[in-house]
Amino acid sequence: MRRPLVAGNWKMNGSKASNKELLDGLKSGIGEVKAADAAVCVPFVYLADVQAELQGTPIAWGAQNVSDKASGAFTGEISCGMLKDFACSYVIVGHSERRSYYGEDDALVAQKFAAVRAAGMRPILCLGETLDEREQGVTNDVVARQLDAVIELEGVAALADGVIAYEPVWAIGTGRTATPEQAQEVHAFIRERVAGHDAAVAEGLRLLYGGSMNPGNAAELLAQADIDGGLIGGASLKADQFLSICRAAG
Ligand code: PEP
Repeated sequence: MRRPLVAGNWKMNGSKASNKELLDGLKSGIGEVKAADAAVCVPFVYLADVQAELQGTPIAWGAQNVSDKASGAFTGEISCGMLKDFACSYVIVGHSERRSYYGEDDALVAQKFAAVRAAGMRPILCLGETLDEREQGVTNDVVARQLDAVIELEGVAALADGVIAYEPVWAIGTGRTATPEQAQEVHAFIRERVAGHDAAVAEGLRLLYGGSMNPGNAAELLAQADIDGGLIGGASLKADQFLSICRAAG
């Protein structure tokens, strides 16, 4: 039985003051979430504050991106070792905003995935098609290509205890959610593709849905057989909304 995970992606939002208020809200309500894991992926500069606030609580924390390199002359980059220094559990890799605005391709995302695992943290690997790709009927091809890049580099065993987020690009931050059926169809496709390599790994893999998930649509999405949680953008910035999604997950 897979334990659901609800992870917040704060993106480039927050301040010391607003983060404190948000974390206070999360801490006071998380006790009502009994059967799901919760995590927040925050801007690098707030990791120390978030660690101090969340240590000893059931809420895990992590980052939204990382370098594939270990150290050296890579101005502006942050390494996995640095994230480990702040006890990060999770690192998002391959978010569509990184792929589209910063040119991250499948090969780089796979390298980042490998670096995160090698450092003993859990990558949350984001996959998803654009609206154009969906309309062309190539959703499965796109998701398969993004997934295969990781499996080819790291082997399918790297997905054991793994987390993948299916995030249709057209649903991110748009208020336009995939229907539960649309999301389930792609989730099932991803799980089957992994099962083609290793059935046990596929069975244990947590597949999160991301794309305008909110308290109003979470229960229906989470009820799907292959949806094991959510990666939440906008709704993760409001404690009551994020907690409501966590409660819907478990
Ligand atoms: C995301 O950025 O991962 C995301 C799912 O955003 P939103 O929930 O705002 O669509």
